[in-house]
Amino acid sequence: MRTDPAAWRVAVVGSGPAAFYTAEALFKTGRGVQVDMFDRLPVPYGLVRGGVAPDHQKIKAVVKVYEKIAAEPGFRFFGNIRIGHDLQVADLAAHYHQIVYAFGCESDQKLGLPGEELGGVHAATDFVGWYNGHPDHRQHTFDLGRAHTVAIVGNGNVAMDVARILLQHPDELAATDIADHALASLRQSRVQQVILLGRRGPAQAAFSPKEIEEIAELPDVDVIVRADEAAVDPMSQAWLERDGARSQQRNVKFLHEQAHKPPAGRSKQLRCRFLVAPSALHGEQGRLRGITLQHMELVADDSGTPRPKPRGTEEMLPVDLLFKAIGYKGVPVPGVPFEPKQGIVPNRDGRVLEAVGGAVRTGHYAAGWCKRGPTGLIGTNSLDAKATVEGMVQDQTNGALLQPHAGDIEALLRSRGLDPVRWADWQRLDAWEQQEGVARGKLRHKLVDSAAMLERIRALRG
Ligand code: NAP
Repeated sequence: MRTDPAAWRVAVVGSGPAAFYTAEALFKTGRGVQVDMFDRLPVPYGLVRGGVAPDHQKIKAVVKVYEKIAAEPGFRFFGNIRIGHDLQVADLAAHYHQIVYAFGCESDQKLGLPGEELGGVHAATDFVGWYNGHPDHRQHTFDLGRAHTVAIVGNGNVAMDVARILLQHPDELAATDIADHALASLRQSRVQQVILLGRRGPAQAAFSPKEIEEIAELPDVDVIVRADEAAVDPMSQAWLERDGARSQQRNVKFLHEQAHKPPAGRSKQLRCRFLVAPSALHGEQGRLRGITLQHMELVADDSGTPRPKPRGTEEMLPVDLLFKAIGYKGVPVPGVPFEPKQGIVPNRDGRVLEAVGGAVRTGHYAAGWCKRGPTGLIGTNSLDAKATVEGMVQDQTNGALLQPHAGDIEALLRSRGLDPVRWADWQRLDAWEQQEGVARGKLRHKLVDSAAMLERIRALRG
């Protein structure tokens, strides 16, 4: 049964993959829903624009799906509107029957080690945002011109992205949508060696097989693995056979092959270390010079999962730069319940809870990384959003909704003097960035500063 569009109004906070898949699942209900999507930035797409690496354009092409969702008659975009600042959660509750939080995880995990504050120690997420021209990260500087050896803590796909961007020839990036400042800096880079530090073994490497294989295919790069560290211990072998995914089997096979293959003598190296974890970072005159690495062994936890434990021996590793690629972390939004340990919005199957284990906050939902933590690939968010929307549909059917009493949010935005970026504005900026890119021999010339984006958007409005 179709209802009047205005009869079901949903606000979605965030405009990355989880937000768009939520909107898609809502439209697919066929119940005539109005979906208003809010983002604090003037531009949409979250980590697809600001996280996915510029040489992974096939992954970025998922925006074609999001463009179709945005073309639904019930869709509206309100960019440059920060919830908790420009609008409060209470404002949304006055205008919408349901609110979905899909604002991801915007910060990074800390190591908590002495020396973490030294110059040359960086969050990988800052580097990722920087080369992608994210307005929050454009001001960072990375001393690539004086760095020979770079260590990366963690061996997930973010570590892979950072390693690949550091090791591949900048000419390969020049025609992408990489930020101009990053390309200029990478052209000055002297990085020859990147060392990945995995605290567990090859069976527990968190990267996807095709990511490590892609690096091994770079013409200038040898992937080097120590035979002793590539060996899989009996406990991990049993765990692999019992719980291991096919991707983990493929990683183990690949790493074993690399360990037994003589290096081709290429000019750059990716060294994959396993069973090592930093215990202290050392510097001179405020700059990182080296790391104490603890040697680890694996012990089973209560569920039988192999976990790292110090073996009692260590080594010194001289490095010039260090990137922490140990995961993203959520940031609280004023007015939205937050669980600081996991960095997520407490929820039960997508329904927001007042606190972990607490009561459901009727009409409030979560989807994506702020619901389940920073795991999974882009497509994982589609299933995740569908699950949240299932609950929303049940609640809509049962009338367990917010009781909005105000009219259209546009009136409130106007009364506060706010000038949101609308979807048509973004479409004009999108076309402009691409045209400017073509003129410069690249896919897209990204504006990297919110003020410049807004200025350009206003100019394009004519
Ligand atoms: P991740 O996959 O969770 O990897 C985090 C890595 O950091 C793991 O190797 C983890 O080891 C290690 N780690 C965590 N805490 C540590 C500590 N205190 N000391 C040493 N090592 C530590 O996270 P991510 O790389 O940030 O990626 C986030 C999500 O985005 C993942 O699902 C990833 O697949 C996805 N992503 C995908 C792509 C792509 O498809 N191309 C690109 C980027 C990101 P343990 O396993 O031992 O905990």
